[in-house]
Amino acid sequence: MFEPDHREPDNVDEAHYLVFHGTNLVTNMRATVPCLLPRQEVRFLAPEPVRQQFLGYWQGKPCFARELDHSTGLGNGQYQSGNLYQILGRVSDELFALAGRAQQLLAWERDNRFCGRCGEAMTTHAQERAMTCEPCGSMIYPRISPCVIVLVTRGEEMLLARNANFPIEMYSTLAGFIEAGETVEECLVREVKEEVGMDVNNIRYFKSQSWPFPNQLMLGFFAAYEAGEIVCEDDEIAEAYWFKPDRLPTIPPIHSISGQLIQHHLDQHR
Ligand SMILES: [Zn+2]
Repeated sequence: MFEPDHREPDNVDEAHYLVFHGTNLVTNMRATVPCLLPRQEVRFLAPEPVRQQFLGYWQGKPCFARELDHSTGLGNGQYQSGNLYQILGRVSDELFALAGRAQQLLAWERDNRFCGRCGEAMTTHAQERAMTCEPCGSMIYPRISPCVIVLVTRGEEMLLARNANFPIEMYSTLAGFIEAGETVEECLVREVKEEVGMDVNNIRYFKSQSWPFPNQLMLGFFAAYEAGEIVCEDDEIAEAYWFKPDRLPTIPPIHSISGQLIQHHLDQHR
């Protein structure tokens, strides 16, 4: 259970930390909860952070994101560091979301040390979760990037595509970033047309998921096939096919919204 709060408490004896080694999350492979390190452990492992953000309360205890310089030694092999994929599916969805929040807030502070408008140093705002520039008054809030992710269906069949940049042979739903000035629905129709050359209708919202690679908010939808033949977008989509429920290729894990869209469709056609 997580309660967000940006006002740091006076007493942090019971605090827990999500520690980042540069941009990589540190995990203790011997701990029950590998990515949430208690204060007494962090005092030795990471006494001098490069930066730190108070996140709120995890199970009633104060919780921080703490970044170490990437050249800091991690000791005797008890700790590992890697990107957030290493804990996806190994911790609860709620804890994964907390780790994603921690990573994004540290990245936001790191990327806004200087004002983009006037070039002066920025500081953290006293009352709000914001970076502020005193000379020019600019305020920068943590930024997220909304994305549409859509499972196109034709009866029981699902359109799944293999991204040209996927390291493994996996077929997934279509996705793309929402552009400035665009509605979510317009983005969905445009992305499907661009990526596989098809028209869709009957757009239905499913659910959303924060996806910290690096800062997407995935908005999940179903859409029904209307017209067109599969024409894959160069450079982006390597292959795309219609798949029947009993003949699925390798698909994304259930912890991702893509996997959940596919599973939801399968449940409805059993
Ligand atoms: Zn400024």
